[in-house]
Amino acid sequence: MNINWNFENSYLKLPKFFYSNTKPEKFPKLEVLLKNDDLINLLNLQNHDFDIFLINSINSKNLNSFSQAYAGHQFGHFTKLGDGRATLLGEHLNSNKERFDIQLKGSGKTPYSRNGDGKGTLKSMLREYIISESMYNLNIKTTRSLALLKTGEKILRNGYEQGGILVRVSKSHIRVGTFQLTYLSNQKENIKELLNYSIKRLYPELIEEKDKYIKFYEKITENQINLILDWQRVGFIHGVMNTDNMSLSGETIDYGPCAFLDEYNPNKVFSSIDHRGRYAFINQPKIAMWNLARLGETFLHLIDNDEQLAIKKIEEVLNKYEKIYNTLWLNMMKNKININQNHKNDINLIKELLDLMHVFKLDYTNTFIDIENNNLKKFDFMKDWNSKFQDRKKLNHKKEDINNYNPKIIPRNHNIENILNNVEFGNLEQLKEIFIYLKKPYDESIPEKYRQMPNEDEKIHQTFCGT
Ligand code: AMP
Ligand code: MG
Repeated sequence: MNINWNFENSYLKLPKFFYSNTKPEKFPKLEVLLKNDDLINLLNLQNHDFDIFLINSINSKNLNSFSQAYAGHQFGHFTKLGDGRATLLGEHLNSNKERFDIQLKGSGKTPYSRNGDGKGTLKSMLREYIISESMYNLNIKTTRSLALLKTGEKILRNGYEQGGILVRVSKSHIRVGTFQLTYLSNQKENIKELLNYSIKRLYPELIEEKDKYIKFYEKITENQINLILDWQRVGFIHGVMNTDNMSLSGETIDYGPCAFLDEYNPNKVFSSIDHRGRYAFINQPKIAMWNLARLGETFLHLIDNDEQLAIKKIEEVLNKYEKIYNTLWLNMMKNKININQNHKNDINLIKELLDLMHVFKLDYTNTFIDIENNNLKKFDFMKDWNSKFQDRKKLNHKKEDINNYNPKIIPRNHNIENILNNVEFGNLEQLKEIFIYLKKPYDESIPEKYRQMPNEDEKIHQTFCGT
């Protein structure tokens, strides 16, 4: 057990172009509201007196903290950005020499804040805490949440709200947008340094490889594809898949206007500003590919001196993974309805199911549980499909074990909204209760109240970013 951080900030060896030295603002009334015991253990920190330790480290004069610069395509428009409300305290090494970025989100202004105040509301930081930890427990790669603090000050949003700071933990915060930053300045040397740094940090096994740059690109593509598959599996809509919100670590990052599907609608968007459905549920795989193409074009010159050849190599990777995605998606959906072996009609069976779910507004999570429990008879309109499905199941070689494909609980918007309002008024009881179940989302013993879809009054149609 360690009471102190074991910081070693490798990122600061990159050219100054990629970061600014920043410090968290002073908040005299900081208070730790939540801490994550599992993560404290994983980082080999000490649980005892953790709150004081954390507050002291945020207030420490000796911090070597910084904020990262990046750019990004936001809803298709290219802009210069950066950590506008985040300060990276340091890269912490645990006893296994695993490296974790420890970042404060909502800790005040930085050189990248533009017109923002650098702050976050307690509610939006808690929302990220709950959803990111839920994703982790669903076995989906994600940044994690070490702690949530109340800043003790009120900030102006829709009226005055309590301010909060999230302590976010990630394998690394390098984004597609970090690479795109170099586009704005056409600094070819910088991109090489960033690329070599990223390989060393994320895929050190590639360092000695001959074609390490294209191999690295392939790894990043593979990991993104696997991530999106997991999102589609559980009905997660990220909501704002801008290139600055796509992490090269393959972790889900930036929980802004994200939400889980209740009733199945492939065109569902939650973000209040996504008028054209760019980041709709069904579009997520395509957008990931688009973002990956933006990444590839930043280091074409390092892949091959001949630009046309470099483009061809990038396209080959993208085409290959588009095919792989389609195969993996079908397998994943087959696992969700527990069929194995291959039949040429499987794809149609799945598509028909999704169409029925869409037309009859069935709940994405609960329908797969109903299928698992052979409980479709209650829906007259599923009769034909169910009989085809029962026939198809006869081809299964053996009955699969109960699977970890279908969660029994997801953090539903309406439940989370209630909890956030309670916490704003100092009541943490409900939050503690739901966490018990969100920690084991594949367990059968989930109370009915967390399984139900929202009724018409409870439905939340929009969520907001930058809050
Ligand atoms: P997001 O859509 O949450 O990824 O944020 C997009 C950009 O806006 C990032 O560069 C953020 O750092 C920045 N940003 C969001 N909220 C604030 C805020 N309250 N103050 C300053 N910058 C912010
Ligand atoms: Mg972001």
